[in-house]
Amino acid sequence: MKKSYLWLIFIIPFGLTFIKSFFSLNSFLPTLQDELVANTSGNSSFISYAFNSLIKFSVIPIMICTITLYEILFSNINFNFEKTLSLKKLRFSKGKNFADIWYFFINILFNQFPIIITFLTFGISNFSQNINKPIEVLFNNFYSGFLPNLESGSKSFILIILTILLTDLMNYARHRLEHKVPLFWDLHEFHHSATEMTILSRYRGLPLDGIFTAPIFLPISVFTGLLLNLTLSSGFLLPLITYSMYLAYTSMVDLIAHSSTKIIYPRQISKIFMSPTLHLLHHSANPEHFDKNFGQFITLWDKFFGTYLDESNLKNIKEFGVKNTQYNKYHPLYAVSLLPFTKISKRIKKIWTS
Ligand SMILES: [Zn+2]
Ligand SMILES: [Zn+2]
Repeated sequence: MKKSYLWLIFIIPFGLTFIKSFFSLNSFLPTLQDELVANTSGNSSFISYAFNSLIKFSVIPIMICTITLYEILFSNINFNFEKTLSLKKLRFSKGKNFADIWYFFINILFNQFPIIITFLTFGISNFSQNINKPIEVLFNNFYSGFLPNLESGSKSFILIILTILLTDLMNYARHRLEHKVPLFWDLHEFHHSATEMTILSRYRGLPLDGIFTAPIFLPISVFTGLLLNLTLSSGFLLPLITYSMYLAYTSMVDLIAHSSTKIIYPRQISKIFMSPTLHLLHHSANPEHFDKNFGQFITLWDKFFGTYLDESNLKNIKEFGVKNTQYNKYHPLYAVSLLPFTKISKRIKKIWTS
């Protein structure tokens, strides 16, 4: 296979992630999924459950295998496992040995048992969800009043594209706030504690992550849910397919962006879409690269707000991560649970006494 076509191997994990997003998006979907599966099998509930579990648990391993395969195939000329394999780099990240493996499994545990997050955040996660709920209802009622009658497929398609662009802008705003507000940085610093990009570095996430910045997304996430429900009930599947593709694409690129895989888009595409390598610059330890490339999907926001750094800077990356961060000085179990609270309380004390 020619090197320039190697990216085609990502079609399989993309397809799987797309199916996963498609079937887990909103309340309409369990019925829809049962219908789809029932049409082909005749026994909806068990097959539907098995289908769900298979997709859910196969996406990440398949993605990791694909990235590794890509790295092997891409570097077959001058093969050097130490330098090219993301998985091999797990050994070299500073801090506790194989910390990324710890964080990966802790992340899976958080997803499977959200009660652990409630426990580790001393109930703050539940408290913030309860505060957000009445605000969600308010937005829901507000939008319901003026959302147009979606009698045309093209109107709903344009609306979902605008929704995706706004979601991406909110992602940019959230990420920039996490770097600019010291209290938020205390938490986001954990994500930047990886000193090697190892695929699993993406899973460096705290239970407190997003709790303070989640309200930024409330207006757009309520709108998205409402729009998808309305379009589905009007019989238009295209907005849901488009949105699922967006979710599948961004989550796949996110995983590639945190590995050693250097995928740079052709120049014309790279002008519009963030190629995964641009996130490597965001994680670079070179001060010239600090606070750059906050975007996730399109380049517009970084370009417009003056934080864009292009691929020509990649050669100036010498190391990754934050030097001497406390998150690398303790056991991963302490680093994800109590350390964030210690850091936050110190920060609040500092603000209080200044
Ligand atoms: Zn960041
Ligand atoms: Zn990152």
